[in-house]
Amino acid sequence: MTAVEKLAPGAPPTEGFIPLSVPELQGNEWTYVKQCLDTGWVSSAGGFVERFERSVADAVGAGHAVATVSGTAALHIALLVAGVEPGDEVLVSTLTFIAPANAIRYVGAWPVFVDAEPDYWQMDPAKALHFLERECEWRAGALHNRATDRRVRALLPVHILGHTVDLDPLREACRKYGLAMIEDATESLGAGYRGRPVGRLGDVGCFSFNGNKLITTGGGGMLVTDDAAAARRARYLTTQAKDDPVEYVHGAVGYNYRLTNLQAALGVAQMERLGAHVAAKRRIAAAYDDALQAVPGITPMREALWAQSAWWMYTVLVDERAYGIDARELMRRLERDRIQTRPLWQPLHRSAPHVTAYATDCSVAERLNRLALSLPCSVGLTPADQERVVDGIIASRT
Ligand SMILES: *Cc1c(COP(=O)(O)O)cnc(C)c1O
Repeated sequence: MTAVEKLAPGAPPTEGFIPLSVPELQGNEWTYVKQCLDTGWVSSAGGFVERFERSVADAVGAGHAVATVSGTAALHIALLVAGVEPGDEVLVSTLTFIAPANAIRYVGAWPVFVDAEPDYWQMDPAKALHFLERECEWRAGALHNRATDRRVRALLPVHILGHTVDLDPLREACRKYGLAMIEDATESLGAGYRGRPVGRLGDVGCFSFNGNKLITTGGGGMLVTDDAAAARRARYLTTQAKDDPVEYVHGAVGYNYRLTNLQAALGVAQMERLGAHVAAKRRIAAAYDDALQAVPGITPMREALWAQSAWWMYTVLVDERAYGIDARELMRRLERDRIQTRPLWQPLHRSAPHVTAYATDCSVAERLNRLALSLPCSVGLTPADQERVVDGIIASRT
C-alpha cells in the first residue's frame, strides 16, 4: 500500500501516481494516538501537548513553545505578542504562501511586500534595507513609511522551501530601528542559519504541522520564543484568555487556538523522526542535483554558504529558451505521466486580497513565479520513483 492509499481510504486508485509530497507516518504514531484513545485524553488537556511543545522547543533551542491549531494561528498570535497594532506595517516576503500576509491583516495591520533575491529566492535583505533607509522616516519616536504614513513595527521574513533567509542584515535593522522580528519558519523546521536552528533568531518563531510539511500532525502549528512573558501571553490568547477557569472569567478577546492532545500525539511521534526526515530530504535533493545539473535549461535550487537547508520542497527553474518548453507546459506533460509537480505561489503583491498593500520592486519574485517548478520530494520517495521523475524531465525537453 502506498502512503497515499493509506491516507485516503476510498480515494481513486493511485497506482503509478507520484505525488508532490505526502506525509511519512512510519514511527510511533499509532502507539501514541492509541494511548490518547485508551485514556480518553483526546482534547485540549493531556500530556502529549506538553511533550510536543518541549520536543520542538528543544529541537530549536528555544526557552518556550506554545502549540496552536495551525501555523497561520501561530503567526496571528506571534504578531499580537510582538506588539503589532492596527494600522501598523509589517515587512513580509512577497514570494511565499499567503498565510503570513493574511495573519498581518487579522491584526488590522498592513503588509509591505519585499522582493525575493535571485540566488536562493528568499526575502531580499538589500531591498528591505533600502525601504527602511530610503523610504521611511523617523518621527515621534517611531519609523514611518513616508508613502503611506503608517508606523513600521515588525519584520516577518519567511524561510521558504526549507532554506533560510539571510537574517543578519535584517536583525541588525531591527536593532537599529526598534522593530520586532517574527520568523515564519513553517517551511524550514530543521534548517539552520550560520549553524543556529531557525525559529529562534528573532523575537518569535512560527512552525506549521500541516500535512505537506516536513513533519505533520494532520494540522497544527507552534510558536517558539525565549521571552517567558511573550510565551505566557501567547498561551493565554490561544486559550480564550481565561483568567478564572472555574468562574469563566476572561480578561481579553481570546482565541480557541489550542492544539488537541490527539494531534500532539502525532506530533511527538513525528518529532522523533525529524532528523531522519531531514536526512531523507537531503538525500533526495542530492540525487536530483546529480541527475538534473547537466540538463540544459534546468537550474536546481541551491544552498547558500550561510544556510543549512532542510530541503523541504525541491524546486527547479525552467528556462524556456534552453529547455524548449516552459515550466507550466512541463507540469502538464509530467501530469500525463502521473507525476505531480507545482509552480511556486503567485507573488502576494499580485494577490487580489493584498494588491493595495505597499511593495518594493518585486520583479525577481515575478520572474521566479514564471520559471519555478517543485518536484516530487516526499520523505518516502523511492529511488525508482525519483528516477521516473528525472526521466520524465529529460524526455520532455524539446
Ligand atoms: C504552511 C505555511 C504556513 C502555515 O500554514 P498552516 O496550514 O496554517 O499550518 C505559513 N506560512 C507558510 C510560508 C507556509 O508555507
